[in-house]
Amino acid sequence: MAGGGASGGAGQAEVETWPSRPPHLIVNVTDLRKRLGQRREVAIDAILARQQVLDTHTLRTPVRGEITVESIERGVSIHGHVSFDWEGDCRRCLEPVQGTTEIEIDEICQVHAPPNSDIVDFDGEKVDLLPLISDAVGLSLPLAPLCREDCPGPDPDRYPALTEQELEAAEADEPAPDPRWAALDGLDLN
Ligand SMILES: [Zn+2]
Repeated sequence: MAGGGASGGAGQAEVETWPSRPPHLIVNVTDLRKRLGQRREVAIDAILARQQVLDTHTLRTPVRGEITVESIERGVSIHGHVSFDWEGDCRRCLEPVQGTTEIEIDEICQVHAPPNSDIVDFDGEKVDLLPLISDAVGLSLPLAPLCREDCPGPDPDRYPALTEQELEAAEADEPAPDPRWAALDGLDLN
């Protein structure tokens, strides 16, 4: 008898109260940068703007994790991990599927970062973690999720389920569409 939690609803796990706004993810690193190698741990717990790619979108639940900011030459390194919740359509049966994905954040922020590099330019004083986390989440949305590993799909007899490895192998074998075929489509071959 652990008690039913705050909500009295039968089996309702849905959280209904959200933080009114995300905690500030701007980290002042002025003190940190006084000595190379100094570190600060930043706990991440923030609801970010909804992101969607194809049929998969982020849920309105907090992105959580731990980020270490460390003082390096001309800036800071940002390293850690966060996890986020998403919802999409199962690629076989097309039923809604939800999941949680954990991703690694690994960035270097420097004053006068060289152009066209992966290094994030910043003013040397404040690092905004929000766009770094947000971009990483957007790039990690699972675009072809499964409701379960062996989901048989809507018509198992005609479309037998492939395992994850078989699917990856099939995708790797499949050649990119040849643009010349597109041209042939327009021809009348009588
Ligand atoms: Zn499914």
